[in-house]
Amino acid sequence: MLATQDLIQKLETKKIPRYRAIQVIHAVCKEGKTSYATITTLPLELQRELETEVPILSLKQVRQVASKDGSTIKTLFELHDGLKIEAVLMHFKDGRHTVCISSQAGCQLGCKFCATGTMRFGRNLTYEEISDQVLFYAQQLHHQDQRISNIVLMGMGEPFMNYDNVLKALRVINDPDGMNIGARNITVSTSGICEGIEKLINEDLQVNLAVSLHAPNQELRKKIMPIANKYSLEQLMTAIKNYQDKTHRRISYEYVMLKGINDSEEVAHQLGKLIQGQLCHVNLIPYNATGIINIEGSIPEQIRKFRDIVKEYGVPVTIRVTLGQDIQAACGQLANKAAKEGEIAKQKPLEVQIKNS
Ligand code: SAH
Ligand code: SF4
Repeated sequence: MLATQDLIQKLETKKIPRYRAIQVIHAVCKEGKTSYATITTLPLELQRELETEVPILSLKQVRQVASKDGSTIKTLFELHDGLKIEAVLMHFKDGRHTVCISSQAGCQLGCKFCATGTMRFGRNLTYEEISDQVLFYAQQLHHQDQRISNIVLMGMGEPFMNYDNVLKALRVINDPDGMNIGARNITVSTSGICEGIEKLINEDLQVNLAVSLHAPNQELRKKIMPIANKYSLEQLMTAIKNYQDKTHRRISYEYVMLKGINDSEEVAHQLGKLIQGQLCHVNLIPYNATGIINIEGSIPEQIRKFRDIVKEYGVPVTIRVTLGQDIQAACGQLANKAAKEGEIAKQKPLEVQIKNS
């Protein structure tokens, strides 16, 4: 659905008063209406006009699969130009319903361990395509008398490579007259695009920031994350320091545990030293097999050892609960299955483009 202001403008060009736009947004976001025909407060003629000219959702559901334990639901969507993206709804034991959404069709950054990074890059999503992933699940939950509690931008794509559309989508998701999901319940995850972090400092939107660190030294980080060639670890730490100094908000570090790559005790000490004293939290992510990349996850015992060492530095650190592995809906697995089936074209990541840009 369009942002309220955009809908008002669109209707005003047709001489339809603004209160109609507000009625539509309310019906769609607060009452879970999925078609104009069911918004009975609108005149019949307007219902028909809107049905053809202003689609409620900018994406079409192709398929939905649930994990065996029912905790996770993954949806494959088709965009107007045929590109496909995925989003995931997770029901946690504590009653939270978290939706993980995509910001791009594919990703240009080519991290060595990530399924999305091996796909051909499609394009940036529009703000509407981003916020509609949330609206889709909000409407589904509405019909079960439930509500989304959290949003994470941890699906396909790098949010800060599509900064403006992501920020506009977050405002739509946050709009009290619309979906009304609190900014503090929204988390944006970046692989370390410093400009994005610096820009976020000045936004009047208090969303949480997660940084995919994955390595505490530049050499190792460069090996697994090509983006480190463009933004060094040192630059990244400076941007994070600015963010923390100016916003006083806690950031989360994500650290995917890769066997024999970034999980040694020595590396754990380096990580502890690098971030000790910061207002932060570390999430150690057990690696999810992708089926297309030849990397293994660390064994649970090594993850616990790593955690205990980082803890010695006074850094809050937890091991992330992973849901939905059986339907390839866990971190880093999105688009993998679809790519295999040829629904999303697979190609080498565009590393060169990043290095030169
Ligand atoms: N592009 C952004 C957000 C999407 S990825 C980013 O990189 O931060 C969300 C998280 O999943 C990132 O921390 C990413 O590194 C991690 N991830 C990628 N592939 C993974 C895998 N196979 N197993 C576990 N986590 C993975
Ligand atoms: Fe892109 Fe994030 Fe995957 Fe890296 S981990 S390839 S930045 S989606």
